[in-house]
Amino acid sequence: MRIAVVGRGLIGSAAARHLALAGAEVILIGPDEPEDRSSHTGVFASHYDEGRITRQLDSHPFWAEVSRASIARYAEIEAASDLRFFTAAGALHAGPATSDWIARIGAGADASGVPHRRMTGTEAAEAFPMLWFSPDWTVFHEAASAGYISPRRLVLAQTRAAERAGAQVIRAEVTGIDTGDSGATLRLADRTVQADTVLVATGGFTPGLLPDLPLTVYARTVALLEVDAMEATRLAAMPSMVTMLENGRDPYILPPIRYPDGRRYLKIGGDPDDLVLRDAQDARAWFRSGGRPEVGAALAEHLHRRMPGLRAAAPVIAPCVTTFTPGDLPLIDRLDPRRCVAVAGCGKGAKCSDELGRRAAELALGGAPDPRLTLSALTEAA
Ligand SMILES: Cc1cc2nc3c(=O)[nH]c(=O)nc-3n(C[C@H](O)[C@H](O)[C@H](O)COP(=O)(O)OP(=O)(O)OC[C@H]3O[C@@H](n4cnc5c(N)ncnc54)[C@H](O)[C@@H]3O)c2cc1C
Repeated sequence: MRIAVVGRGLIGSAAARHLALAGAEVILIGPDEPEDRSSHTGVFASHYDEGRITRQLDSHPFWAEVSRASIARYAEIEAASDLRFFTAAGALHAGPATSDWIARIGAGADASGVPHRRMTGTEAAEAFPMLWFSPDWTVFHEAASAGYISPRRLVLAQTRAAERAGAQVIRAEVTGIDTGDSGATLRLADRTVQADTVLVATGGFTPGLLPDLPLTVYARTVALLEVDAMEATRLAAMPSMVTMLENGRDPYILPPIRYPDGRRYLKIGGDPDDLVLRDAQDARAWFRSGGRPEVGAALAEHLHRRMPGLRAAAPVIAPCVTTFTPGDLPLIDRLDPRRCVAVAGCGKGAKCSDELGRRAAELALGGAPDPRLTLSALTEAA
């Protein structure tokens, strides 16, 4: 069976690796990262970065389950590709002790057996003096099998491992998919590609190929603050951190990470509002815009409040997009006999992308969909 995976991002490249390992004939199709975003007219992706928080605990059992399954395979993917993408810096989950979110994290931590330390805000401030914690917070610390991954390098690693397992890679955009009794035809700029089954994993640009799915794509801005070598050394023991504040905002912070320009940056994200992108054209324009400076400035201010004494340069901002379904779960389903889809990382799909891709690969090979992730289940959640 010939399976074409459209979208060489985190989920698509993972699916291609699993399909190739299962012995399928696989063609993985998707472009490289554009060299110049501001003049690029094609599609973009949500993995053009060096830091994504990775953690085994989550307030939702599904996300915890797929994260744990993926993290357990990081070493295997690194070995299969000879590329390192995971840094075990540890991860913190912090929020008001009485919040539902903290209660759900705690219940998941107890039920799963994931090694963790539960602290008061005061204890966390002693353990991590570079960070500020409110005394009335509860903080969970995962010291092992958590930290951050480079999403860029993970895509490279999955692509390389898929190729080594026999997948063919075409570095191009698909402009349309036609299906018929004998198979599917993918339209590319300079040719067509035939397949028995197509798996669409095109992230925030999925509405450009499959317009009628219940997906919402949000514009996101992150702020990157450069630190010098001395400050990076002071922050060497800093873990990644997610927070859920009383006002519903969820700022997250990553420790200093080296970027392709050779400099080290701390990253903070967590937009104060939800800017919806209506279609793929909107999403293209958003990536070309470079992000919202006022959001970047507010995030940088928040970072300084959370890290008293921080010595860092003025923020550099970057745009990204997150894709959601009404149920805040990914859509991994068969749309018709020829087309499957795997989309919607819901802002947390990087760390667990290997398991999302594995499940999508099983589906493309003829397996039954997970009833929680079907189009009908997620549409009903609306
Ligand atoms: C600011 C920000 C911070 C985040 N932080 C975290 C985090 O800390 N931890 C975490 O786990 N997750 C995080 N995420 C979420 C995570 O990055 C996404 O869930 C993940 O990238 C989704 O993977 P994907 O494969 O669906 O999409 P992508 O990684 O975007 O891949 C989609 C691919 O499809 C390709 N494509 C699109 N259209 C076409 C087409 N027509 N033809 C061919 N190819 C096409 C694109 O080029 C791209 O490579 C964050 C996201 C953002 C935006």
